Parts: sequence; C-alpha cells; structure tokens
Amino acid sequence: MDKISKKIRKHLRIVKTYEGVDSNINLSKKSGIPTKNLIRLNANENPYGTIPEVKNSLQEIALHEYPDPEQKIIRKAISEYVSLPENLIIAGAGGDEIIDLILRLFINEKDEVIDCIPTFGMYNFAAKLSNSSIISISRKNNWELDTEKIISKITDKTKVIFIASPNNPTGNLAQENQIIDLLETGIIVCLDETYFEFSNFSFSHLLNKYSNLIIIRSFSKWAGIAGLRVGYAISSEIIIKHLMDIKQPYNVNVAAENAVIQTLKYKDKLFEKVKKLMDEKERLEDYIKSCNNITSFPSQANFILCKFSEFSSEKIYEIFASEGIFTRKFDQKMLENCIRISAGTPEQTDKVISVINKIEKNFYI
Ligand SMILES: *Cc1c(COP(=O)(O)O)cnc(C)c1O
Repeated sequence: MDKISKKIRKHLRIVKTYEGVDSNINLSKKSGIPTKNLIRLNANENPYGTIPEVKNSLQEIALHEYPDPEQKIIRKAISEYVSLPENLIIAGAGGDEIIDLILRLFINEKDEVIDCIPTFGMYNFAAKLSNSSIISISRKNNWELDTEKIISKITDKTKVIFIASPNNPTGNLAQENQIIDLLETGIIVCLDETYFEFSNFSFSHLLNKYSNLIIIRSFSKWAGIAGLRVGYAISSEIIIKHLMDIKQPYNVNVAAENAVIQTLKYKDKLFEKVKKLMDEKERLEDYIKSCNNITSFPSQANFILCKFSEFSSEKIYEIFASEGIFTRKFDQKMLENCIRISAGTPEQTDKVISVINKIEKNFYI
C-alpha cells in the first residue's frame, strides 16, 4: 500500500463511490441520444420541474450573503407546513445530509445500523462512512417489514433503524403497528418519508409519544428542486437541538432556502403536478395489469417497481435505454428481473407503454 493510502482511515479506505444518478452527459454518451431527447425516469424527479413563482424569485436573492445558520425563516415555513413547532425541525442539504447527520450524532465505532432491504442505498453508504456495521434485514415476499426479525437482530450496539415509507424502490408503506413495535424498543427509528406528498400518509402523529422517532422529508422529489438539495427532519426537541449543534452552519444555501419558502407559499400549484404524476403512475400500473410478461408491485409513491418474466434487470434497462428512456436497474438477487420506473408526463408514459407493448410482442428477443 502506498504511503498516502496508509494514512487514510481504514473504514474509509475501502468505501466505494455511491452510484448516484447518471448525469445527462453520461446518459447521452451511453445511448447516443442527444441530451435534450433523454427521458429521465431513473431518479423519481418531478419532470415538470418547479413552478415559475419559485424560479423567478431566485433572481432577487442576495447571493453575497451567507444563509442563516439558525434557519429561522425556513424552519418557520416548514413548521407551518407540517403543523409542528419550529424547534422540532431541522433543514439539511437534502435528506441525504440529514441521514449523515443522524449517524454522526449517534454512532460510535463498531455500532450497528439496521436497514430493511431492498431499500434506499444511502443508509448503507452513510453507515459505512460512520464506521458502523450495517445489518440488512430482508423484507418479506410482499416487501412488508419483517419486524420480528428486525427486533431479534437488535443488540446493545444497535443505534439506528432506517425505514423508508413509502419504501424506495418497492413503493409500499410501513404499517403503524410495526413502527410502534420498533419505537417501543427505544432504538432511534428514522422513518424516511421522502415520498410523503405522493402517498399522503405520515407517521408524524407518533412524534408526541416517541422521542426516539425521527421523520425525514425532502423537497427533491415532489417539489421539483432536487438540484437545490433541501430536505428536513422532524423529531423530538432534544434530538433536533443536537442535530442543530453539529450541522455545518450554512448547510442550506440561500437559493435552496428561498426556493423552499416560495414552494410552500405556492404549494397547491405543486400539488397539482403531484396529482398529475400519480395519475400517470396509475395509468402505467393499469396498463401493466393487462400485460402477460410484466407485473408491478402496488406503489404509494411516484414510481413503480416492475418485474419482467423474460429478461434480467440489465437487459430491460438496455431495452428502455435504446429507446431513450432511462430507468433504475438493480444488481441485487432479490430484484433480479426488476426495474424501477418513475412517473412521468403523459407523453413519457405513452413512450414507456409503447416499449412495454413491444416487449410483450417479443420485439426485442
Ligand atoms: C431520493 C431519496 C432521498 C434523498 O433525497 P434528497 O435529494 O437527498 O433529499 C431520501 N430517501 C429516499 C427513500 C429517497 O428515495
């Protein structure tokens, strides 16, 4: 090993780059399709983008000034939105930063973090960065949580349990009795409700009973500002106080701060897009029901996990990519033959349906 590598902290030396969403440049290079013709259904983004009110307001921001380290205005706006006090809220540079901060707060070397796979990859990645061991518990056949198994794996080193509801990539919600069972263990339970605006279902009513509950939310998916990076956590006063103490002072930039305030001011306009996306998701689900070689799992979010009888995940990905449509593929055994398709505009759904129709007619064999 070279001299520099030896100096690098052991647990970080072996970390592999998080495989994030491909840039348009990469997608274009891979497919030979010009960037403006790419159909991005791989990251659960809002293809309508944000609304003009948000975009136009960005002109007036004082870019030379630092953002407010106490996040007063943004926390107040989110507080009104979620109908909970400001001191129970912290904003971050995406839900991703919130996940990272939570592990910074609770993890000592060799502690354990639980996630329930298949699920969002950031829990595993962030756990590795924090020098904890990730204990991954497989979900049941219908992707339900296996709470008995989770509870049986809890040790005195277990610090945090991550549950996404709706879960990415499976689309299903967690059930209240299961979440209560986990909360009753006293372990920190992070309920990731990034897709709340699509599912309209939250566990936030449990916050007043359980101080070990942290709810994670994001503006990336529903509000069309993934590029600005804003998410937040809602939790007990004590946890939020400590998260506020350890965060970088200027973690939410001024453009993001402004965009959140305008987004919440005109939220009904964005909810119209959310509704449109869920309509398209349903249309695609209905179409898939009529197919012989494809099934989909019921989803409460703006994406569908589809399973194909003939092809591997990679092959299906390639088929869609050859038509300019980018989906999310998987290499885990439990998701072989599966891809995740994000809800798109009506035109995008039409294109997806036409590709599926060709798959049904054995066009690609
Ligand atoms: C996309 C996603 C996030 C993170 O989103 P940010 O852009 O970092 O706010 C968090 N959790 C789940 C389940 C996601 O799918």
